[in-house]
Amino acid sequence: MPGQHPSHEDYMTDTPGPSTVAYFSMEICLEQAIPTYSGGLGVLAGDTLRSAADLRVPLVAVTLLHRNGYFQQSLDAEGNQSERPVSWRPEERLEEMPARVVVPIEGRDVTIRAWRYRVIGGSGHEVPVYLLDSSVDGNSDWDRTLTDSLYGGDLHYRLCQEVILGIGGAAMLRELGHEPIVAYHMNEGHAALVTVPLLEWQLDGRPVFEVEDADLEAVRRRTIFTTHTPVPAGHDKFPLDMVRAVIGDKRVELLEKAKCTDEGTLNMTHIALRLSRFVNGVAMKHRDVSRGMFPTYPINSITNGVHATTWTSPRFQALFDESMPEWRTDNLYLRYAVGIGLPEIRAAHMDCKKEFLEEVAKRTGVTLDVNTFTIGFARRATPYKRADLVFSDVERLVRITEHVGPLQIVFGGKAHPHDGGGKELIHRIHEAARELGDRVKVVYIENYEMEIAAKMVAGVDLWLNNPMKPLEASGTSGMKAAMNGVPSLSVLDGWWIEGHVEGVTGWSIGSAVDPEGDQSKDAFDLYMKLERIIMPLYYGLPYAYAEVMRHAIALNGSFFNTQRMVEQYVRNAYFPNSVVSVAEAVVA
Ligand SMILES: *Cc1c(COP(=O)(O)O)cnc(C)c1O
Repeated sequence: MPGQHPSHEDYMTDTPGPSTVAYFSMEICLEQAIPTYSGGLGVLAGDTLRSAADLRVPLVAVTLLHRNGYFQQSLDAEGNQSERPVSWRPEERLEEMPARVVVPIEGRDVTIRAWRYRVIGGSGHEVPVYLLDSSVDGNSDWDRTLTDSLYGGDLHYRLCQEVILGIGGAAMLRELGHEPIVAYHMNEGHAALVTVPLLEWQLDGRPVFEVEDADLEAVRRRTIFTTHTPVPAGHDKFPLDMVRAVIGDKRVELLEKAKCTDEGTLNMTHIALRLSRFVNGVAMKHRDVSRGMFPTYPINSITNGVHATTWTSPRFQALFDESMPEWRTDNLYLRYAVGIGLPEIRAAHMDCKKEFLEEVAKRTGVTLDVNTFTIGFARRATPYKRADLVFSDVERLVRITEHVGPLQIVFGGKAHPHDGGGKELIHRIHEAARELGDRVKVVYIENYEMEIAAKMVAGVDLWLNNPMKPLEASGTSGMKAAMNGVPSLSVLDGWWIEGHVEGVTGWSIGSAVDPEGDQSKDAFDLYMKLERIIMPLYYGLPYAYAEVMRHAIALNGSFFNTQRMVEQYVRNAYFPNSVVSVAEAVVA
């Protein structure tokens, strides 16, 4: 409209600034059709990039192509999992870049190319993602497989992948002209070898034995590390002999000089800790646990979130648009969900539930009842998540349904191909389902991925989360549920310690002060809460239940989103000096 006063958006520009942040992650969930993620870490990475694009943060990302995807899960009637590679055609989804870089691996020159995906934010700003690919003419057959399988292969294969991600990734960004980079963000330790080229560039031809503290400090000024793993066993470690064979004596000497090796091993978390200026855990509790593991490092906390518009169902999006359309660009407006009427929340939820149960019927052939209280449990199938805790005492579960009302449970989640315990868990859930028959209907959805996850978090009545403490660094699917007004029943670990207000945003299992979850005590608590509090509320006082749903959106949705999270990374980690420096970075 001519003569109209310009909007503030007219003053922003998309020119890549001189201050670029480079985000490195072994897995990123970009979209359903690009199977380059296995679970929470990848979904978080994707949500981070989506919010960075919305917020116009000058950021580029690097990951591997994972040509075989994670895997496609099939389950037989007994719940035995089998795995198939996912076939997808990168050239249909991504744009091949002409740039090539060479990474020495075991003395061979391995050529790497990159495919670009563009994450476009709500404001039109673009975050480019480069997926590195070693399947290039001239590479040996084996080298060509190095970027094929996410978390596939053995330790040696994994090390080669981390070399490509860190060393190859840094070289590729330089080749593509994304310099200067003010912050290299290592999302988990897999990317820690990015520090090797940074050290080499800092040395700029000086011999390795000349590395000084000032050089380490110069590298440290440019690196950020987010740790996601609350147990030492979860951190990647490689025998130094293997590392020497893969990256060569000179680079190992550099790491030794930089005090990054420990007695015959290379621990990726230790490298990242030693060479980062900002380190964070992904929830307050996880920060405290990490400080206990690494007492000599200052460890901060930035609690995870989820991308609001990705994980809010279309039905709730429409409801939010009616009363607070600003929520899309400023997630804090979700706080105003307190003003949405309870009948509207109930109606929106009922539509989501119908849609989800129709999808369940289509996929499994099992028809669930839309008026029955429905629990959802889905995430990677691995023993510490204890998906079968709710079946500790099936007769007790049946008695609850007899006293209070009917119950049905939906499960989902893949077990890593080598995770025998995780596979056993899926099997046990199928056994419990058979034992319970029609008394408590239980279904397991095959091949849990982004699209079904989005329907599921919105379509159940309660999101159940009962991992063994303190193993859940954060957890994110309960946040997705909260965006859709679905409250959690969860152990007090990870994000739920921060998001939980008993009876207001959801319910707890056990107390925050028990250091270790006691299996039988947790199961007792779970049954007690369902029988005495949650199900009576659902069946007897549906508007009181809807009040909890509304608080889940207003109190948890407004905070546990990646918009708030990325803003915290920008302020505290990427551009810590002032808010003005952020504006400069964006506009320059
Ligand atoms: C969110 C999500 C996860 C991670 O869930 P957590 O609760 O963080 O364990 C895993 N898989 C898919 C498909 C998801 O959408």
